[in-house]
Amino acid sequence: MTHSMSELTAVLTAPGRITRPGKGDAMHRLIVELYPVCRSITGDGMRASLLRIKECVGLTLHEVPTGTRAFDWRVPREWNISNAYIRNSRGETVVDFRNSSLHVMSYSVPVHTRMPLSELRHHLHSLPAQPDLIPYRTSYYTEDWGFCLSHAQLESLDEGEYDVVIDSSLEPGNLTYGEVYIPGEVTDEILISCHCCHPALCNDNLSGMALTTFLAAGLAESRRRLSYRFLFIPGAIGAITWLALNEETVSRIRGGLVVACVGDPGPMTYKKSRRGDAEIDRAAAHVLKHSGKPFSIREFSPYGYDERQYCSPGFNLPVGSLTRTPHGEFAQYHTSADNPDFVRSEPLEESLATYMEVLDVLDKNETYVNTNPHCEPELGRRGLYAGTGGQSPPAEEQMAILWVLNLSDGTYSLLDIADRSGLPFTMISSAAGRLREHGLLEKRGVRP
Ligand SMILES: [Zn+2]
Repeated sequence: MTHSMSELTAVLTAPGRITRPGKGDAMHRLIVELYPVCRSITGDGMRASLLRIKECVGLTLHEVPTGTRAFDWRVPREWNISNAYIRNSRGETVVDFRNSSLHVMSYSVPVHTRMPLSELRHHLHSLPAQPDLIPYRTSYYTEDWGFCLSHAQLESLDEGEYDVVIDSSLEPGNLTYGEVYIPGEVTDEILISCHCCHPALCNDNLSGMALTTFLAAGLAESRRRLSYRFLFIPGAIGAITWLALNEETVSRIRGGLVVACVGDPGPMTYKKSRRGDAEIDRAAAHVLKHSGKPFSIREFSPYGYDERQYCSPGFNLPVGSLTRTPHGEFAQYHTSADNPDFVRSEPLEESLATYMEVLDVLDKNETYVNTNPHCEPELGRRGLYAGTGGQSPPAEEQMAILWVLNLSDGTYSLLDIADRSGLPFTMISSAAGRLREHGLLEKRGVRP
């Protein structure tokens, strides 16, 4: 199953507007397709996933060699795996990588050995509190190997000898990441970043990969004022490496969002940037407050996804994270239950629409000057005032025009006006558009 660019974009329309259903279903199909691919922070699984996304959007694959310095880190060796299993003394395969890529601890070194269960146990990971689920475990920076299995299965293993095989390789290679850049009218840019390093896990992180793909495809189809950059990277080391190699670009980043956990049924959650009052923080809060749906807003903390890197003090970028249920707060997190049944089309579609709305606010959030600041202009003769007086309170559209005229003194942006008036940004923005058409508003700095 493939999604052509036209299929992707056919279901995406002008930003923030939904004219046809189906984006959520298409995102879910992409998740199902990528689910079996064994991804890690490097290797062919990551490469194959990015090549698949490349069929949907104009993605550039970058390969950064092992050993490349990235601030205090170095790009690790590349990890690949072809097969892994545990076989009992009767020759029965009791754990098989081919059934789930979660069965092998990511970055396990190669193993071909035989050992008793008492010894093997040190390398087996399970979840006693969730006995039917397989956990997700990694050992990127410490040489180790391990298998993950359900606690019920672990309990069923009898004592005795086991053949243990991990056909993996850990060799000099590359760290692969994907990048989509969509130039706008100005070079100020918005950064959208998702991690792509988890194997068979859907909400964290395939939902973020799918949303980022569709968001990029949607934005590529419309004229935008700002430029947009989308990063598909391995968690932590990917962001660190990108920041180290792109310090020049960083100065153009005006705001950003880290995408993850956008397919579960929980309410939207916005985690603020380290700055806390950046434009992105206010735009996300504004959209969620006017969504009419439950939401929560959280302060920044130096944990979580790659906002940790973007908001490190040396960069302090205005980058927040927009999720549904945050990492670690849903029972399926980092287990085999974070599967394609857990993520659904409806929340995926709603998350995408919310992202579109937030980016729309950033794109249209300009500061204007009222060209007729001495008393109100005569709106009636311009068709900008309701014909019949006395209506109380006036329609919101009317109030939006009055608010934009009153506050557009070159210091209030449209988002400032939306927040101060309590009216939705979309209404304030369209009022500003009408006033501009009538020459009553101009961009700040136009006059000498
Ligand atoms: Zn994770």
